[in-house]
Amino acid sequence: MLSRLFGSQRVPSFLYRVSLIMKPQVVFVLGGPGAGKGTQCSKIVEGYNYTHLSAGDLLREERAREGSECGQLIANYIKEGKIVPVEITINLLKQAMEETMQKDEKKFRFLIDGFPRNEDNLQGWNTVMDGKADVKFVLFFDCGEEVCIDRCLERGKSSGRTDDNRESLEKRIQTYLQSTRPIIELYEKHGKVRTVDASRCVEEVSKCQRWCP
Ligand code: UDP
Ligand code: MG
Repeated sequence: MLSRLFGSQRVPSFLYRVSLIMKPQVVFVLGGPGAGKGTQCSKIVEGYNYTHLSAGDLLREERAREGSECGQLIANYIKEGKIVPVEITINLLKQAMEETMQKDEKKFRFLIDGFPRNEDNLQGWNTVMDGKADVKFVLFFDCGEEVCIDRCLERGKSSGRTDDNRESLEKRIQTYLQSTRPIIELYEKHGKVRTVDASRCVEEVSKCQRWCP
């Protein structure tokens, strides 16, 4: 019996051993506020072996963490629809990825939702994650401004978010158009964008298989 030769421990399968040395595989999920990134990421996670990490959620958690040194700064940036300095965001993302992989080595596929949102974010990612993760593609939820605003205002009735109001939303849309769209265009030039028409209803959008690995 093989176990006699190799001792009593089970020999890990080849695929399992390969997964231990796998680099994180990342899909960046981008689109305007209210485009449905978070909603659709939850759907993807149901059907595929991906872990969903929302940069916005991680920042909100950090904002709420007792003793956080940057809680107030994050709160101000979020309300103003501005983009938090990348040093903060990248650390939260890296930590979340490491924690996930430490708990389960097979969880090395990530949907990173709402990042990178500007040049600073992208540079931070490239500096910190260079060679440590592979970005497969950008999943772009394409949705008109009006629909985005309406959805966020609707969500604002119950979300309790400090930025789901008209004033913050106008700033968020501006930030998206000025800072995030150019990042999507950059990836587009490299043929790394998969675009989804996100103006349709949740079920229709989730039927779209553009995220197939
Ligand atoms: N944010 C940021 N950096 C990020 C992600 C989010 O600074 O990488 C901040 C930014 O102020 C943004 C807010 O968090 O407007 C909310 O982001 P979230 O992704 O939750 O909003 P969504 O686009 O999903 O509505
Ligand atoms: Mg979101």
